[in-house]
Amino acid sequence: MPEGHTIHRLARDHATWFAGRPVRVESPQGRFLAGASLLNGATLESTDAYGKHLFHRYDGGRTVHVHLGLFGRFFVHGLPAPEPRETVRYRIIGEERATDLVGATACELLDPEEIDAILARLGPDPIRKDADPERAWAALQRRSIPIGRALMDQSVLAGVGNVYRAEVLFVHGIHPETPAKQMTREQWDAIWVTLVSWLRRGVRQRRIITVDPEEAGKPRSRMTRAEATYVYKSDQCPRCGTDIRRWDLAGRWAYACESCQPRPRSNQR
Ligand SMILES: [Zn+2]
Repeated sequence: MPEGHTIHRLARDHATWFAGRPVRVESPQGRFLAGASLLNGATLESTDAYGKHLFHRYDGGRTVHVHLGLFGRFFVHGLPAPEPRETVRYRIIGEERATDLVGATACELLDPEEIDAILARLGPDPIRKDADPERAWAALQRRSIPIGRALMDQSVLAGVGNVYRAEVLFVHGIHPETPAKQMTREQWDAIWVTLVSWLRRGVRQRRIITVDPEEAGKPRSRMTRAEATYVYKSDQCPRCGTDIRRWDLAGRWAYACESCQPRPRSNQR
């Protein structure tokens, strides 16, 4: 599933390509036909991202909400755009490019109250300048669920997915099964600072890189996908050689080195 940096990158790219001018809007698949007919010829005024939610704001106060879910994806085309596949739910055609949305969980025209309701359910998004880490800290202290589950809970923190979860807990030596409310303030502050830095870099670099270049012995630009993360999809810990444990946590694979990330005491087997 795309993590927050991907959605923020889309918001920026879509603003660059389409904002400020009238666009053609279509729904070749038909499931967004009513919205597309209303928006066709309108001006895309701005775009925004909050966690994994993408918003396209058109003139007249009309906003499209997109959530990619597990399988959603935007394809980009030069002009003239090719014949759309029949799965394209939302197509935007600008002056130089077109983009096609397929497979998304949500693509809908919402009114301001509905948008407020979505935003009200989300925790702070580390990429956003208006994010307040205190809200996430307060939410963590109320939860006895494992921190590895809490980090994926979008009402605690918006935008973090499976890769960043595994990696941020590894670099701070925290086992994913540690109860959220057992986290210290120092641990949470350290996690937040790391996530802000990684996610914002992810927006710029269009990929997830968590490994320190000095540790890798090469610049980020030359790291392969496997070299760019520590424990995610790894077999062995790059720091101590211990086998990485993988198990299901909150419906997604969790990864940990149980030497670098000791199990919480009450939880030891
Ligand atoms: Zn290790």
